[in-house]
Amino acid sequence: SKSAGRNAVRFFDPAMQAAVVARATLQRDLRHALRDGELRLFGQPVVDARAQVVGQEALLRWQHPLRGMVSPADFIPVAEQSGLILPMGQWVLRQACAQLAAWARAGGERAQWSLAVNLSPRQLRQPDFVDTVQAAWREAGADPRRLKLELTESLLLHDIEDTITKMEALAAQGIQFALDDFGTGYSSLAYLKRLPLAQLKIDRSFVRDLLEDPNDAAIARTILQLAKSLEMEVVAEGVETAAQFEALREMGCHLFQGYHFGRPAAL
Ligand code: C2E
Ligand code: CA
Ligand code: CA
Ligand code: CA
Repeated sequence: SKSAGRNAVRFFDPAMQAAVVARATLQRDLRHALRDGELRLFGQPVVDARAQVVGQEALLRWQHPLRGMVSPADFIPVAEQSGLILPMGQWVLRQACAQLAAWARAGGERAQWSLAVNLSPRQLRQPDFVDTVQAAWREAGADPRRLKLELTESLLLHDIEDTITKMEALAAQGIQFALDDFGTGYSSLAYLKRLPLAQLKIDRSFVRDLLEDPNDAAIARTILQLAKSLEMEVVAEGVETAAQFEALREMGCHLFQGYHFGRPAAL
C-alpha cells in the first residue's frame, strides 16, 4: 500500500535540502549584517619596488556574532546571487571614500596612499553606476585620483560597449582601474587594449610557484611584457617570501602585495 507521495520521498535528497537551507540562512544573516553594522573593511598594503607602502586594497570582512570573522569567499557568492552585493558594494565604496578622506586629513605619507576597491560585475551593470561612484567620493570629500577600482575578467562576458563607456566616464573623473586575478579568466587581448586600465594584477596562483615552476615564471614575464607595451602597471599578488619579491622585482614588476609585506588588517 505505497502511496505516490511515499515513493516521491525516495528521490528527495536531504543533503541538497540542507544546502538550500544553509544558503537561505546565510542570506538572511547577511542582510542583517549589513543592517546591524557587522561588516568591516580591512586593508592590505600595496608596496613599491623599495617595499614602501603606496596604498592599500580594501577587503571586506563580516564580524559575525557567533561565527567570528567570516571570509568574503564564504559570503560574496551568496551576496552576488541574492543581489545583496549591490547595497553591500555601495557600503564598501562609501567606507573606502571616507577612509581616503581621513588619510588626506591626517596628512603625512598616508595622504598619498591609494585605496583599491573590489567590484562585482553586477555593480558595474547598474545603469546608475557612474553616478553612484561619483556621489560616494564627492560626499566623502575624497580625491578620486586615489580611488582604484578592481574588476575581474568575467566582466568581459557582458555588454562590453556599455562597460567601456562607464569605465571611461569614471576614468575621466580621475579614477583608475585594475584588472584583478589576471591570467585566470577570459581576457581577449583585443578587449584588453580597449579598456581604460591602469593596472594588471598577476594572480596569486602564478606567484606561488614562480621559483619552482618555469611555466609560472614565463607567464609572469609575459604579463609584464604585455603590460609594458600597453603602458600599464603590474601588481603581483600573493607575494609570501623575500625570494618571490626579488624574482618579480628583477622581472621589472612595479607593485607588490602579499603576506610578506602585510596581512589584511583593520583599516
Ligand atoms: P582578491 O581581490 O583576489 O583579494 C586578494 C585575496 O588574497 C584576499 O583574500 C587576501 O587576503 C588574499 N591574500 C593576500 N595576500 C596573500 C598571500 O600572500 N597569500 C595568500 N595565500 N593569500 C593572500 P580575501 O580577503 O579572503 O578576499 C577574497 C576575495 O573576496 C577577494 O579576492 C575578492 O575577490 C573578494 N572580495 C573581498 N572584498 C570584496 C569586496 O568588497 N567586494 C567584492 N565584490 N569582492 C570582495
Ligand atoms: Ca582584488
Ligand atoms: Ca586578486
Ligand atoms: Ca582572487
